[in-house]
Amino acid sequence: MQLIVLAENNRSCRQLVGIKSAWLMGQGVGRPLESKSQKLDEFQSMNAEAHQTDEEESTENALENLNQQLKAIFGKADLRNEAVGLYNIGLSCCLNSLLQVFFMNRHFTMILRRIQVPFDPEEKKLSVPYQMLLLLEQMQRGKQKSVHPLDLVKCLVKHNMKLFVLHDASQLFLQLWNLIKDQIANEELVERLTRLYTIQLQEYLVCQKCSLKTRKDSHMVMLPLPMFDVNFHRVRTLEDSLRCFFAPEELTEENTFHCDQCHKKTSCVRSTKLTSLPQTLILHLMRFCTKEGNRTWKISHSLVFPQSLDFSQILTTEQYHPDAQNQDDGLYDLFAVVAHSGSADIGHYCAYIWSLIKHKWYCFNDSSVCPVSWDDVKCTYGKAHLHWGETAYLLVYLKRNCNELYFDP
Ligand SMILES: [Zn+2]
Repeated sequence: MQLIVLAENNRSCRQLVGIKSAWLMGQGVGRPLESKSQKLDEFQSMNAEAHQTDEEESTENALENLNQQLKAIFGKADLRNEAVGLYNIGLSCCLNSLLQVFFMNRHFTMILRRIQVPFDPEEKKLSVPYQMLLLLEQMQRGKQKSVHPLDLVKCLVKHNMKLFVLHDASQLFLQLWNLIKDQIANEELVERLTRLYTIQLQEYLVCQKCSLKTRKDSHMVMLPLPMFDVNFHRVRTLEDSLRCFFAPEELTEENTFHCDQCHKKTSCVRSTKLTSLPQTLILHLMRFCTKEGNRTWKISHSLVFPQSLDFSQILTTEQYHPDAQNQDDGLYDLFAVVAHSGSADIGHYCAYIWSLIKHKWYCFNDSSVCPVSWDDVKCTYGKAHLHWGETAYLLVYLKRNCNELYFDP
């Protein structure tokens, strides 16, 4: 059997045009662990140390050293005012839910805190990562129970986010993620952000006539998981939905594939292999489907999801074959559920998020934040007869044993 490898294809990371401009190393954006004066003392003593070594090392090395120490301090942030609400501005419940999912994930905030601050005031207003960082600071430093995400909303509106419409959380997540990624100037941070969220896949197509095997490498930021199997039966569990996604599929009729060896379109079998799982894994339950007449419907039936996932138990070794270098054990714990209530046309989003610090679940419902139980989270499984009921739409799992240290626990 011959194997052809095609160029990498990005299936779901839309590249949005971002602003890349002159940046200045981040000042005044890290959150202190202790009081301001203590922070200042530490900063000054570091500065002094940096100056002492100035004669021995180059200025560049000394500054890098200082920068590393500052990063070490600011990296241990996020300890206070963890569960802060966000006021709804122009039906921003979807945005608010996604922001909370980003902010409660300290692997993400560690990256956000290291961005370089734009120099120009206009660039600051247009920078999504910078405005997110300011909002995070406001939430964690202030004493308010909720804050207005006004400047970030204004910034996102300038990047074509619409107000007063109910967004699709999966699309808005991708839009946000791409804006953040495109607007971070530091390549190392972009690489870390990419590794944090990117799922690596290999897609194989086998021609049914000549057995030519073609491989295409791709990557995604979220896995779109079906609510129905190939026979249009309801999928009842997340594990089954994952099995459906990775099950080999025969492509015939209009889905035939052009075979380079047969020089014509032939039927083929497509299979997908998971080669690398990210630290933050986003699963998108395909609860919205478009039928005839372009009308979008919501699928409300129950889909049970577990608190922990073991990919080596769910998928076969053919379907899940991580790169040996990654030492990927495939073990994940549920971190967040972005839930939707209402219909496809009108509805509301909130987020259930597991606190990595306080080890309990919170429900973030715009400006209202309250601790909840696992039983409350389970209520988002869905019910077929409750079309307006709250259902999980995005599931976020975090890798249990992380090889890469994104933050000090
Ligand atoms: Zn062929």
